[in-house]
Amino acid sequence: MPVLTHYICVPRYGFNVTSEETEPGFGPNVIATLPSDTNPNTFVVVGAHFDSRGRDRASTTEVAPGANDDGSGVAMQLELAKAIHSWDQEFEYGLIIASFVGEEQGLIGSGVLATKMKAEGKEVLAMFAADMIAYHKPGNNLQVGLATQSVSPILNDLFTDVAKDYTPEMEVCTTTGTRFVCCYHIPAAALPPQLFLAPL
Ligand SMILES: [Zn+2]
Repeated sequence: MPVLTHYICVPRYGFNVTSEETEPGFGPNVIATLPSDTNPNTFVVVGAHFDSRGRDRASTTEVAPGANDDGSGVAMQLELAKAIHSWDQEFEYGLIIASFVGEEQGLIGSGVLATKMKAEGKEVLAMFAADMIAYHKPGNNLQVGLATQSVSPILNDLFTDVAKDYTPEMEVCTTTGTRFVCCYHIPAAALPPQLFLAPL
């Protein structure tokens, strides 16, 4: 069988980009860091997973809808990095844009990052996880769904206020669906308040 040798060349946009080994059978996380001189040990994390496999990772037939779940989240990460680079601003806190592996198989990549940050004494001020953000039901307005369980209500309120100012045409809704809460990307035990996005 031929070895796949496709490499995607992505601009770094001023971030320090590293790969982080995870577990056997999984690829590495890709971690882009923009440190802050003001608070070098405190970070805002923006996460999404870049692989897409079913729960049974040996299956060749199980559905793994990668374009939306979660190519859409990774596309947002790249656009975010590009926009931040173009602003050329200093931030009060560091920013980590973390592209994870192994989300469907048990939060493999995010668990590695969370454990490592905790061991290194790094603080997470807020975590923003974007998953399946490309789906748009025909006839609906632009919508975003905020999970309400196991997340920070303060961050949800902040998101809602900011969205009103910048995208007043967007409906900000909430979802209590447990499928979209707790499970995505960051083990709750390892990191402080998080903000999650979920599809409606
Ligand atoms: Zn996902």
